[in-house]
Amino acid sequence: MACSSEEFKSLLSRRKYIFHVHTTYTDGSGTVEDYFEYASLHGYESIVFTEHVRMNMSYDFDAFLEDIKAARQKFPWIMALAGAEAKILPGGLLDIPDNVSSKIEVICIACHSFPGNIRLYEKSFQKLLGDSRWGNHIRVWVHPGRFLRRMGLLDGNLENIGSLIRLGADRGVFIENNIKNNLPPASLLNGIHPDMIVVGCDAHSPSELGMLRACAAPD
Ligand SMILES: [Zn+2]
Ligand SMILES: [Zn+2]
Repeated sequence: MACSSEEFKSLLSRRKYIFHVHTTYTDGSGTVEDYFEYASLHGYESIVFTEHVRMNMSYDFDAFLEDIKAARQKFPWIMALAGAEAKILPGGLLDIPDNVSSKIEVICIACHSFPGNIRLYEKSFQKLLGDSRWGNHIRVWVHPGRFLRRMGLLDGNLENIGSLIRLGADRGVFIENNIKNNLPPASLLNGIHPDMIVVGCDAHSPSELGMLRACAAPD
Protein backbone atom coordinates (compact mmCIF):
# COMPACT_ATOMS: atom_id res chain seq x y z
CA MET A 1 0.00 0.00 0.00
CA ALA A 2 1.50 3.31 -1.02
CA CYS A 3 0.64 6.55 0.71
CA SER A 4 0.84 9.68 -1.41
CA SER A 5 2.09 12.97 -0.12
CA GLU A 6 -1.44 14.39 -0.41
CA GLU A 7 -2.89 11.51 1.60
CA PHE A 8 -0.26 12.02 4.25
CA LYS A 9 -1.05 15.74 4.41
CA SER A 10 -4.71 14.94 4.82
CA LEU A 11 -3.88 12.53 7.67
CA LEU A 12 -1.88 15.32 9.32
CA SER A 13 -4.56 17.93 8.81
CA ARG A 14 -7.00 15.88 10.91
CA ARG A 15 -4.52 16.12 13.77
CA LYS A 16 -5.60 12.81 15.30
CA TYR A 17 -2.41 10.98 14.55
CA ILE A 18 0.48 9.46 16.45
CA PHE A 19 3.79 9.86 14.68
CA HIS A 20 7.23 8.52 15.61
CA VAL A 21 7.11 5.57 17.99
CA HIS A 22 9.51 2.78 18.86
CA THR A 23 8.57 -0.72 19.98
CA THR A 24 10.11 -3.73 21.65
CA TYR A 25 11.63 -4.65 18.29
CA THR A 26 14.31 -2.08 19.10
CA ASP A 27 14.69 0.18 22.14
CA GLY A 28 11.02 0.76 22.96
CA SER A 29 9.11 -0.92 25.73
CA GLY A 30 5.66 -0.99 24.11
CA THR A 31 4.51 -3.53 21.54
CA VAL A 32 2.81 -2.65 18.27
CA GLU A 33 -0.48 -3.74 19.80
CA ASP A 34 0.08 -1.58 22.89
CA TYR A 35 0.24 1.49 20.65
CA PHE A 36 -2.97 0.48 18.87
CA GLU A 37 -4.66 0.06 22.23
CA TYR A 38 -3.47 3.48 23.32
CA ALA A 39 -4.63 5.08 20.07
CA SER A 40 -8.02 3.46 20.35
CA LEU A 41 -8.44 4.48 23.98
CA HIS A 42 -7.51 8.11 23.31
CA GLY A 43 -9.35 8.71 20.07
CA TYR A 44 -6.47 8.73 17.60
CA GLU A 45 -7.24 7.76 14.03
CA SER A 46 -3.82 6.76 12.84
CA ILE A 47 -0.37 5.66 13.93
CA VAL A 48 2.81 6.05 11.94
CA PHE A 49 5.27 3.39 13.07
CA THR A 50 8.88 4.47 12.63
CA GLU A 51 11.07 1.66 13.90
CA HIS A 52 14.85 2.00 13.93
CA VAL A 53 16.56 0.19 11.07
CA ARG A 54 20.09 -0.17 9.82
CA MET A 55 21.81 -1.87 6.93
CA ASN A 56 22.63 -4.82 9.18
CA MET A 57 19.26 -5.54 10.70
CA SER A 58 19.20 -6.95 14.21
CA TYR A 59 15.58 -8.14 14.07
CA ASP A 60 13.04 -9.53 11.64
CA PHE A 61 11.43 -6.53 9.97
CA ASP A 62 8.82 -8.77 8.34
CA ALA A 63 7.66 -9.90 11.78
CA PHE A 64 7.26 -6.24 12.74
CA LEU A 65 5.13 -5.65 9.63
CA GLU A 66 3.09 -8.76 10.43
CA ASP A 67 2.42 -7.38 13.92
CA ILE A 68 1.06 -4.18 12.38
CA LYS A 69 -1.16 -6.18 10.05
CA ALA A 70 -2.46 -8.36 12.87
CA ALA A 71 -3.16 -5.36 15.10
CA ARG A 72 -5.02 -3.61 12.29
CA GLN A 73 -7.39 -6.56 12.10
CA LYS A 74 -8.06 -6.22 15.80
CA PHE A 75 -8.45 -2.43 15.59
CA PRO A 76 -9.80 -1.88 12.07
CA TRP A 77 -10.82 1.71 12.89
CA ILE A 78 -7.19 2.70 13.40
CA MET A 79 -5.17 3.34 10.31
CA ALA A 80 -1.47 2.56 10.44
CA LEU A 81 1.46 3.37 8.24
CA ALA A 82 4.62 1.29 8.31
CA GLY A 83 7.77 3.30 8.47
CA ALA A 84 11.34 3.25 9.60
CA GLU A 85 13.83 5.66 11.09
CA ALA A 86 17.14 5.47 9.28
CA LYS A 87 20.41 7.28 9.84
CA ILE A 88 21.91 9.63 7.32
CA LEU A 89 25.45 8.54 6.47
CA PRO A 90 28.32 10.86 5.51
CA GLY A 91 27.80 11.55 1.80
CA GLY A 92 24.03 11.51 2.02
CA LEU A 93 23.18 7.82 1.87
CA LEU A 94 20.68 6.24 4.22
CA ASP A 95 21.47 3.35 6.52
CA ILE A 96 18.54 1.22 5.38
CA PRO A 97 18.44 -2.09 3.50
CA ASP A 98 16.53 -2.31 0.20
CA ASN A 99 14.39 -5.14 1.48
CA VAL A 100 13.13 -2.83 4.22
CA SER A 101 12.72 0.40 2.24
CA SER A 102 10.75 -1.45 -0.43
CA LYS A 103 8.17 -2.55 2.15
CA ILE A 104 7.45 0.71 3.93
CA GLU A 105 5.67 3.95 3.20
CA VAL A 106 7.41 6.37 5.52
CA ILE A 107 11.13 6.94 5.86
CA CYS A 108 12.33 9.02 8.77
CA ILE A 109 15.69 10.63 8.18
CA ALA A 110 17.65 10.93 11.42
CA CYS A 111 21.11 12.04 12.38
CA HIS A 112 22.25 10.06 15.41
CA SER A 113 25.99 9.83 14.98
CA PHE A 114 28.06 11.64 12.42
CA PRO A 115 31.50 13.19 12.08
CA GLY A 116 31.54 16.54 13.89
CA ASN A 117 32.02 18.38 10.62
CA ILE A 118 29.31 20.91 9.82
CA ARG A 119 30.28 21.23 6.15
CA LEU A 120 30.04 17.48 5.65
CA TYR A 121 26.75 17.49 7.54
CA GLU A 122 25.34 20.20 5.26
CA LYS A 123 26.56 18.56 2.07
CA SER A 124 25.21 15.19 3.11
CA PHE A 125 21.79 16.60 3.96
CA GLN A 126 21.67 18.63 0.73
CA LYS A 127 22.32 15.43 -1.21
CA LEU A 128 19.85 13.31 0.72
CA LEU A 129 17.01 15.84 0.88
CA GLY A 130 17.15 16.20 -2.89
CA ASP A 131 17.73 12.53 -3.67
CA SER A 132 14.96 11.43 -6.06
CA ARG A 133 15.69 7.83 -5.16
CA TRP A 134 13.48 8.26 -2.09
CA GLY A 135 10.85 10.33 -3.87
CA ASN A 136 8.23 7.58 -3.77
CA HIS A 137 8.33 7.48 0.01
CA ILE A 138 6.86 9.86 2.49
CA ARG A 139 10.08 11.32 3.93
CA VAL A 140 10.29 13.07 7.27
CA TRP A 141 13.37 14.66 8.75
CA VAL A 142 13.04 13.77 12.41
CA HIS A 143 14.38 15.69 15.43
CA PRO A 144 16.27 18.12 13.17
CA GLY A 145 19.33 19.47 14.91
CA ARG A 146 19.52 16.91 17.71
CA PHE A 147 22.95 15.65 16.76
CA LEU A 148 24.31 19.18 16.35
CA ARG A 149 22.90 20.24 19.69
CA ARG A 150 24.59 17.28 21.34
CA MET A 151 27.87 18.34 19.73
CA GLY A 152 27.38 21.95 20.80
CA LEU A 153 27.15 22.95 17.13
CA LEU A 154 23.51 23.94 16.88
CA ASP A 155 23.42 27.50 18.17
CA GLY A 156 26.30 28.61 15.98
CA ASN A 157 24.75 27.10 12.85
CA LEU A 158 21.09 27.99 13.07
CA GLU A 159 21.07 29.72 9.70
CA ASN A 160 22.58 26.74 7.93
CA ILE A 161 20.11 24.36 9.54
CA GLY A 162 17.28 26.72 8.69
CA SER A 163 18.33 26.63 5.03
CA LEU A 164 18.46 22.84 5.08
CA ILE A 165 14.99 22.66 6.60
CA ARG A 166 13.65 24.98 3.90
CA LEU A 167 15.42 22.95 1.23
CA GLY A 168 13.88 19.75 2.58
CA ALA A 169 10.37 21.19 2.69
CA ASP A 170 10.82 22.54 -0.86
CA ARG A 171 11.81 19.05 -1.99
CA GLY A 172 8.75 17.49 -0.39
CA VAL A 173 10.45 16.27 2.77
CA PHE A 174 8.23 16.72 5.80
CA ILE A 175 9.82 18.30 8.87
CA GLU A 176 9.17 16.87 12.29
CA ASN A 177 8.36 19.27 15.09
CA ASN A 178 9.69 16.98 17.78
CA ILE A 179 8.02 17.83 21.04
CA LYS A 180 10.15 15.54 23.19
CA ASN A 181 13.40 17.19 22.13
CA ASN A 182 11.92 20.59 21.35
CA LEU A 183 13.49 20.48 17.93
CA PRO A 184 14.04 22.10 15.60
CA PRO A 185 14.23 25.48 17.37
CA ALA A 186 10.81 27.06 16.78
CA SER A 187 12.21 29.97 14.77
CA LEU A 188 13.42 27.53 12.10
CA LEU A 189 9.87 26.43 11.40
CA ASN A 190 8.79 29.99 10.59
CA GLY A 191 8.08 30.16 6.92
CA ILE A 192 7.70 26.40 6.52
CA HIS A 193 4.27 25.61 5.15
CA PRO A 194 2.20 24.10 7.99
CA ASP A 195 1.24 21.22 5.68
CA MET A 196 4.89 20.12 5.72
CA ILE A 197 5.22 19.97 9.51
CA VAL A 198 4.58 16.73 11.40
CA VAL A 199 4.22 16.78 15.15
CA GLY A 200 6.23 13.86 16.48
CA CYS A 201 7.03 12.40 19.80
CA ASP A 202 9.79 9.79 19.52
CA ALA A 203 7.91 7.73 22.09
CA HIS A 204 9.51 4.60 23.44
CA SER A 205 6.37 3.54 25.26
CA PRO A 206 2.68 4.40 24.93
CA SER A 207 2.81 6.24 28.27
CA GLU A 208 5.17 8.78 26.71
CA LEU A 209 2.42 9.77 24.30
CA GLY A 210 0.77 11.85 27.00
CA MET A 211 3.01 14.72 25.93
CA LEU A 212 1.50 14.48 22.47
CA ARG A 213 -1.97 14.85 23.93
CA ALA A 214 -0.88 17.95 25.77
CA CYS A 215 0.36 19.39 22.51
CA ALA A 216 -2.04 18.16 19.83
CA ALA A 217 -4.91 16.61 21.69
CA PRO A 218 -7.68 15.09 19.60
CA ASP A 219 -10.89 17.08 19.94
ZN1 LIG B 1 16.15 9.31 16.38
ZN1 LIG C 1 13.03 7.86 16.98
